[in-house]
Amino acid sequence: MRRIDLRSDTVTLPSDTMRAAIVQAELGDDVYGEDPTVNRLEALAAARVGKEAAMLVPSGTMGNFCALLAHCNRGEEAIIGDQSHIYHYEASGASVLGGVALHPVTTEPIGELPLQAIQEAIRDPYDSHEALTRLICLENTHNRCGGVVLSLDYMRTIHAFARSQDFAVHLDGARVFNAAVALGVDVQEITRHVDSVMFCLSKGLAAPVGSILAGDTAFIKCARRIRKMVGGGMRQAGIIAAAGIVALEEMVDRLAEDHTHARMLAEGLSTLPGIAIDLAKVQSDIVIFKLDSEVWTPIRLTEVLAEQGLLIGEIGRGYLRAVTHHNIDANDIEEALEVMRSVLVQN
Ligand SMILES: *Cc1c(COP(=O)(O)O)cnc(C)c1O
Repeated sequence: MRRIDLRSDTVTLPSDTMRAAIVQAELGDDVYGEDPTVNRLEALAAARVGKEAAMLVPSGTMGNFCALLAHCNRGEEAIIGDQSHIYHYEASGASVLGGVALHPVTTEPIGELPLQAIQEAIRDPYDSHEALTRLICLENTHNRCGGVVLSLDYMRTIHAFARSQDFAVHLDGARVFNAAVALGVDVQEITRHVDSVMFCLSKGLAAPVGSILAGDTAFIKCARRIRKMVGGGMRQAGIIAAAGIVALEEMVDRLAEDHTHARMLAEGLSTLPGIAIDLAKVQSDIVIFKLDSEVWTPIRLTEVLAEQGLLIGEIGRGYLRAVTHHNIDANDIEEALEVMRSVLVQN
């Protein structure tokens, strides 16, 4: 039976070009700074997002962790969306291991933290009762909000405000290239409005492992020490970086296909009985929807679909999630809709 896996864009398998690049990668010990392939990827990544320096990390979670600890000392605070990945899905590592306080503020359904909510979250540095505000974290595209894209105006506004207060802005840009493709702009139009950015090579860009943290030279130097501290110094990491280079060179522009497929899927779903979906929020590769059904619970539906070879995610609060990616084509979308239709209509 054919399997259509729409649980996440992390399930992508490396392309043939990536596998060939891995085989041929020139290697060295990256903890000594001597892996030429890692050095090439880091230079390429920094240039791509318009920052002075970049660092390869095994995961997005480690990239965000290094960023928060490089920006904030113990007892300092990061303002962060209450629906953000860092707040929900990273085991509060920055707080647990780094002594960085996370100050959650309301996330709008469009992924924005309202400027006023940010302003109200700022601490008084002269009041010894309070932690010290140091950082604002944004997320683009926004995962839990369904892959919505932050506007450039919004990013500019938050950055200008942060500068006026001498705070830094970190972008959890796990899918920042999806955001750039969705907006039809160079990614630097987004990353120019932040001091640091993390992005994943291992999601829509289809590399098997790895993420990038980028920022200015002093920041990345500091982040390297933190990466080492948590065991993220990797030796012949060119094996990973080789696929990352292919990801950056060959896989960015094709994200537009994933977005087209997500749109096809969302429009198809909107015609099915028992499904509630907000098409305006389908802006990139993520499709979230709810069940409006007496018959189905989200978990039961995912189980029945899985029996038919269609894998989608159940993400809590009654929501289901499907994500398009490199290993999904238009036929898969049609087939997925057919399976959903047959299950939902007959029940
Ligand atoms: C996936 C993701 C991460 C973490 O990346 P991992 O490589 O899975 O650790 C961080 N932020 C967002 C928004 C993500 O979607």
